Amino acid sequence: MSDARAMYEQVILDHNKNPRNFGPMEAPDRVVEGFNPLCGDTFKIYLKFDGDLVADVKFEGQGCAISKSSASLMTTLVKGRTRDGAQALFDAFHHMLKTDHTAPIDEAALGKLKVFAGVREFPVRVKCATLAWHALDSALNNETPEEPVTTE
Ligand code: ZN
Repeated sequence: MSDARAMYEQVILDHNKNPRNFGPMEAPDRVVEGFNPLCGDTFKIYLKFDGDLVADVKFEGQGCAISKSSASLMTTLVKGRTRDGAQALFDAFHHMLKTDHTAPIDEAALGKLKVFAGVREFPVRVKCATLAWHALDSALNNETPEEPVTTE
């Protein structure tokens, strides 16, 4: 087993077992639901803004280990960032997951998110990994969708 794969599995197991920022939020500025019909993952993402800062992020719902750990890691990385900083992280993550699994990744932009590079080998799982991020993207862009954001 490669080091990268070992780290990937460790992060996913850890965040799946002990999801960070998991639970409802009182008086959020934005609530976006995300749904991945291929896997059945369904999450609500809550955001609170303080001016240009993402002051708080929480999530709740159900999903597979990859979707849940990705959402959990997302909340830890986005909290305290500016909206632009959070958007940049989404862009870097989304871009990485669209590339072939042998393509080099931008480790500087991705930071801890690089552990999800291994997901690229499993295209169905990419939707699990990006679900919460698509909801975040929607929330950052001031959309209040009537329908849940889906990966389709
Ligand atoms: Zn899933």
